[in-house]
Amino acid sequence: MDILKAQQLLERMASLLRAESRSLLYQHGLQPVQFEALHYLSICNRYSDTPMGVTEYLGQTKGSVSQTLKVLEKKGLIEKTPDKADKRVTHLSVTKIGLELVHSILPSPLLESASKQLSQEETTSIEASLHCLLRNMQHANNFKTFGQCSTCRHNIKHSDDKYMCGLTNEALSRPDIELICREHEPLNQAVCSS
Ligand code: SF4
Repeated sequence: MDILKAQQLLERMASLLRAESRSLLYQHGLQPVQFEALHYLSICNRYSDTPMGVTEYLGQTKGSVSQTLKVLEKKGLIEKTPDKADKRVTHLSVTKIGLELVHSILPSPLLESASKQLSQEETTSIEASLHCLLRNMQHANNFKTFGQCSTCRHNIKHSDDKYMCGLTNEALSRPDIELICREHEPLNQAVCSS
């Protein structure tokens, strides 16, 4: 692979997606980083829906994440709930209007329309390659992987709809295992190739 070429292509696509997202978010008075936090909270599990989880996911300072969360709360897009067992921990959930906003913006209409011109095989292969590239970059830098239970080494499957997290020893439902987690550890730590 021509690395420089690949980087230019990824950056160009990222910049087109950012421009589209900025224009859609403008109508809702939101900054891209605020939407990124909102989107994360709409897809993460109960171990990850805390201010610390958002901070780790965005790779930003606690102070700026705290400002971001204040804006989302003020707009009625998220709400806070204290943890039942540990009152020092606050969980953040996305409200109904927050979810509606996320679904009105994602997936990107631009990417969706461009993908329609590719075959199923091509889109599957691109998705697998991008997934591998991201995993290898996270691995190389010891970044958290924020993956789903299905690809985590702590996931224990009891039946088709009963799972358990081997890290917390808590039961997981079918919907739970489709959410992303800050404690996720890939099944296979080895370098991935598609
Ligand atoms: S199995 Fe892994 S990804 Fe799932 S909740 Fe447990 S630590 Fe998180």
